[in-house]
Amino acid sequence: MTTHGMAFIYQPLSDTHAQPFPKPNIEAFETQLRIQMAYKYLDENGVLKGMKVSKANRAKLDTALLVHSPYLVHTVEIMSGLGSGFLGESSFASPDLLRSALHALGGAIESAKLVSEETTRHAFALVRPPGHHASTSNSMGLCYFNNIAVATRTVMARDDVNRITILDIDNHFGNGTAEIFYADPSIQYISIHEYNYEGFGIGHFDEIGHGEGKGKNINIPLLETSPNVSYDSALKQIVTPALESFKPDIIGVSAGFDAHYADPVGNMDVDSRTYWLIGNLVEKTVSALGMKGSFWILEGGYNPFMLGSSIRASLEGLQNRKLPQLDDQVNREKHEMLIESNEEIIEKVLETVSPYF
Ligand SMILES: [Zn+2]
Repeated sequence: MTTHGMAFIYQPLSDTHAQPFPKPNIEAFETQLRIQMAYKYLDENGVLKGMKVSKANRAKLDTALLVHSPYLVHTVEIMSGLGSGFLGESSFASPDLLRSALHALGGAIESAKLVSEETTRHAFALVRPPGHHASTSNSMGLCYFNNIAVATRTVMARDDVNRITILDIDNHFGNGTAEIFYADPSIQYISIHEYNYEGFGIGHFDEIGHGEGKGKNINIPLLETSPNVSYDSALKQIVTPALESFKPDIIGVSAGFDAHYADPVGNMDVDSRTYWLIGNLVEKTVSALGMKGSFWILEGGYNPFMLGSSIRASLEGLQNRKLPQLDDQVNREKHEMLIESNEEIIEKVLETVSPYF
């Protein structure tokens, strides 16, 4: 594969969908401010220089049916028309919901297409609302349509795309994506997340997939306040061998940045060094396995002052540039017992999934 270059697709800044909550509800952090401030940061710091930058086009509503039930798709449409209402846990309608959700879906699909056609090696879609909590028939967790699942299904229709790995780095377990592909042997889903966030009790490492999909669902449930070093260990000990054994044609990244220590919605303790490492690991794997490339779709990341620099770090890693020195890279207290416990978890994950490698 000799495709080079990077595409960057962003949500039109005029989309206004927001959850109907004043602070301090956590839902109030998922607004267009995330896109506006991240875009401004990336633009002002020259990160987008040399990239093919474009605005997301609106997807057709029917494309959501590639993954979702007609019930879910029509409910989002109708409730958006009404302008308010409850669609699922932490997922409320607003008058601009449908337009925003279809732009997010359009940007996600476009990023995957560009990589599958080998127009570009890597693509990043800065879009919202996020998608990885939306399952076949349920909107939840600020998500309505599962952007990465629809984008994945879209490009899987090509003859030269037989396997895709979805690497979910969001602080939260991507229950929707896991469910959608749980019995699908052509999709490997790997999620590194804070285990048992808000007591949901999902995302355990024993959930390994079903039927022919057994061993293709890999959950890496780390403890609350996990630091860079635990992510580093999970990436090297599990993610790399899992990718090498599955040999995907493309990696799709559910790019949530809410594991950052300054994030108001996640409780992890990582900084931009981890995001650089993930970007670099993806590029190195693409290169080593001769893959087409990777597409990244924004999920969480709710501190608008940190989102831009976190994305920047991952993009620099992805382009094989050295780690940028960013303000968030400060030394923080080390908790040796927590790191030890995470190592035990990582070992258990490996014991559980490696027989399927
Ligand atoms: Zn999240």
